[in-house]
Amino acid sequence: MFQVDVSARTLAPFVELVGGERVARVTGRAASIAKLLGGRVVWNVNSTAVGGGVAEMLRSLLRYARGLGIEVRWVVMEGEPDFFRITKRLHNALHDEAGDGSALGPDEAAAYDRVTRANMTELERLVRPGDVVICHDPQTAGLVPLLVAKGARVVWRCHIGHEDRGVHVDAGWGFLRPYLADVPVAAFSRGAYAPAWLPRKRFVVLPPNIDPFSVKNQLMPEEAVRDVLVRSELVSAPMSEVGPVFVREDGTPGRVERRARVVREGTPPLWHVPLVVQVSRWDRMKDHVGVLESFARLVRGDAADAPLDTHLVLAGPSVSGVADDPEGPSVHAEVKAAWRALPDAVRRRVHLVELPMDDADENAAMVNALQRHAAVIVQKSLREGFGLTVTEAMWKRRPVLASAVGGIQDQIRDGVDGLLVHDPTDRAETAALLARVLSDPELGVRLGDAAYERVRADYLSVASLERWADLLELLHDARSAASAQPA
Ligand code: UDP
Repeated sequence: MFQVDVSARTLAPFVELVGGERVARVTGRAASIAKLLGGRVVWNVNSTAVGGGVAEMLRSLLRYARGLGIEVRWVVMEGEPDFFRITKRLHNALHDEAGDGSALGPDEAAAYDRVTRANMTELERLVRPGDVVICHDPQTAGLVPLLVAKGARVVWRCHIGHEDRGVHVDAGWGFLRPYLADVPVAAFSRGAYAPAWLPRKRFVVLPPNIDPFSVKNQLMPEEAVRDVLVRSELVSAPMSEVGPVFVREDGTPGRVERRARVVREGTPPLWHVPLVVQVSRWDRMKDHVGVLESFARLVRGDAADAPLDTHLVLAGPSVSGVADDPEGPSVHAEVKAAWRALPDAVRRRVHLVELPMDDADENAAMVNALQRHAAVIVQKSLREGFGLTVTEAMWKRRPVLASAVGGIQDQIRDGVDGLLVHDPTDRAETAALLARVLSDPELGVRLGDAAYERVRADYLSVASLERWADLLELLHDARSAASAQPA
């Protein structure tokens, strides 16, 4: 287990985006929460410091909480590969997928418990009774009863889920239930994700947020977007005088120096070529192969109005770069095989991109530039707890085309702030929607502007800080009520 540094950041820049009144309200609430906490620490425990939505969100939210005077810390669990294989199996199960189809029985529980106990030994030295501990996702569920027994105030935050019960969902919750049966408060991205056995009064709904000032989402002038993409070899164009620059998370100037590793034929697309872009981990539920095949239909002209010169970029982290995602290399290999099998005319318009992960800021700057440059952003997931990439693209005023699954159905109002693919397995529908948005720039602008406004109102860090304030008050009230009960 290791700690991740959390720096403090002020909410002041949000005044321009959401108004001084809202920022003052959040600041006032944080002051009363700090008083309720009385010097206690708010710990966050998850299982990776980089890559994926949870790490992304923690990084941004915690620094604002710290800037507001809340004593927050972030620790990352460590474990052997078998632990992450089991937790990936659980992750898939809660999305109602078989994953690798392996058992979730007593042997797996024993392996899971062993890693949980080893991490708890370290956590015990850090957490004091009365501290708040927010445990994220199935990897940390085993810690919940151990931390409760030590007198910590525990919240289990689950970022994944599926609205319907199915055999895999039941198997996943069956495995986790012994650890979570007595969790004081759980938080889900959608109400429908909570398991049936968890009483309604013990969970809350917390949609995720993005940080508009992070490297991933900060404003980037068009020259910098182009230069970042040229330097990382994602587009071909002359460099401008601005260079591949961005502002690092610590406020210092940054430059993109690394190249992406790209599977493609020929050279990068020219700057003016419209790009269809999906950014996601190499995970089967992101349906890269489905995106490839939908794009193939578009290029072959199956869809009316197919634009002539469009390229597809499927971008994800370097396959070895995400600690808690053991399926990355095999999924990447499958996508590569599907790419190879494409007809020539399609294949040369497709770029499979691995973004270097050595420097998290540089990786984020590349994602930012790609999202800003995209003609349309796709998120054709088969399952999605909540798609951070969708919100990131909406913030950049991009038209987004995403599957009507999971949290995406809350994020996008079809035809208003994005377009929904109603059946994510229907490649013809996806191709037709791609053709529609690519051939109607006015539609793209209308969707993009509405998307930006939606994110500004509901999905920025300030909105999450307000929701966390509600939750911490609830936790405090529940504890006060419990201690006021006669024995
Ligand atoms: N991401 C990234 N670098 C990459 C690929 C993805 O930073 O090379 C980020 C992406 O921008 C988003 C997160 O990883 O912030 C993925 O979150 P999402 O909710 O879309 O999916 P998850 O990975 O949590 O299933």
